[in-house]
Amino acid sequence: MKTSVVSNEYQKLQEEIMKLQEQWKQNLNPDSIDFRLDSEAMKTGVPLVALTNFDVKFPLFVQWVDELKQLLMSQNADLESQLNRVIELIDEETAKVWMEEAFSFNHLYFKKFAEENVLDEWIPPFLAETLFRPYLQLLSEKTQSKISQAVAGCGCPVCGEPVRLGQLEGKGQKILYCPRCHANWPEKKLSCSHCGNEDYEKMKYLTVEGKPTEQIHVCDECKGYTKIIDTRQFITKPSPEMLDLKTIHLDYIAQENGYMVMGEIKK
Ligand SMILES: [Zn+2]
Ligand SMILES: [Zn+2]
Repeated sequence: MKTSVVSNEYQKLQEEIMKLQEQWKQNLNPDSIDFRLDSEAMKTGVPLVALTNFDVKFPLFVQWVDELKQLLMSQNADLESQLNRVIELIDEETAKVWMEEAFSFNHLYFKKFAEENVLDEWIPPFLAETLFRPYLQLLSEKTQSKISQAVAGCGCPVCGEPVRLGQLEGKGQKILYCPRCHANWPEKKLSCSHCGNEDYEKMKYLTVEGKPTEQIHVCDECKGYTKIIDTRQFITKPSPEMLDLKTIHLDYIAQENGYMVMGEIKK
């Protein structure tokens, strides 16, 4: 079975982007995020990001767009004119709107922005999401010690991203990781993160031949799945987004078998 579905070039680019995001995060003033750890709201599944104000500094935003532009152009010089156009179009107000729309996954907003400004459809949402992540990752870093559980079906407790990845750690405990903001939290081994089902007869593991460290936990109640990787023997542990990317073959296998990233809650 072919298990490397992502090209090396693409992986390399992702690694470079992640390095940039790490630098950006380290240069962020910790006061640029103002969060309210409202445990009552969070118990109902409201992600912390919805209880947070982000103070986006425009000069920093422009600098990041420019650094990202240089990196993307090193892979594809043809992007120059479009990326320059983005830089011309962005003003302080647009930067704020972009961060808000990235936060709420508003694909329609970005689609319209791309159409109106004759940009490839992927460019605005990709830039906005890439620039928003350092803020999310700082938020998760600052609050990780307070994050100990999630509400089934509500995604990552910090950023709301659908749950799709976990690792086995220690004595085999299942720890879920968010590839978007890096938050992690424990989950019962036989519990579905999408619908909360704990009926072991409806929870199954799919495995991949020749890949003993990889499992897909699937739930026949909601048809959701989660990729669980046993990283205990790994010499270097990849970051959650890299692990997510390197195991994309598991997403294909799960989906070929009729499972979905987000399960469906039956009414
Ligand atoms: Zn998250
Ligand atoms: Zn389920």
